[in-house]
Amino acid sequence: MKPVSCTHEASHRVAMPFQEVLTMHVRALSGEHRVQALGEVIQAPVCLSCLKEYVALKTDAKRAKRQLLLRHGLISLAGALLLLFTQLPSIGRIALLPGVFALGFGILGYLRAQKEAEARHKGLMALDEAGRQRALLPDFIRHQLPDKAGENDLSYIPIDEELASLSTAALMARYGLLKEIAGQLKSKLAGATPPS
Ligand SMILES: [Zn+2]
Repeated sequence: MKPVSCTHEASHRVAMPFQEVLTMHVRALSGEHRVQALGEVIQAPVCLSCLKEYVALKTDAKRAKRQLLLRHGLISLAGALLLLFTQLPSIGRIALLPGVFALGFGILGYLRAQKEAEARHKGLMALDEAGRQRALLPDFIRHQLPDKAGENDLSYIPIDEELASLSTAALMARYGLLKEIAGQLKSKLAGATPPS
């Protein structure tokens, strides 16, 4: 278990069921591909107050922008410095290409990341608070539970009333599942709940 920094009272925590997903990235000559399997269904304590704070943090657009600027700003700065070095006779044009690359990489990377962040933010803000909590719960729980099991990456799918009604395609898109695994999850869920 990872250390959980929750300082709230135990009454804020509720046990929720999650489906473990194991994903292994296999590098082959044909490129990288994923191997996936469903793990166990686990019960994990979720602190509702921490989840609320996490949602507030993740929907803070200004904070996200600052982080992106910092991340991409450094590489742009390095690029700008390299371009300045081209003015020095001892270095000259040798720094030109890497400088242009770093500057371009930093700026383009920032623009792309910012666009993605904006789309994500817009999507989250279109939901109500409960919807935002539901959407961010898989990320949140990944910070609380182990994210590795040997070679495998671990992720967790909250098992709620909505899950059984999702299509295979929706499961794939929302939880990054391979088609076969999404199908397995669907039949597992169908088996767990009696037909109505
Ligand atoms: Zn807490």
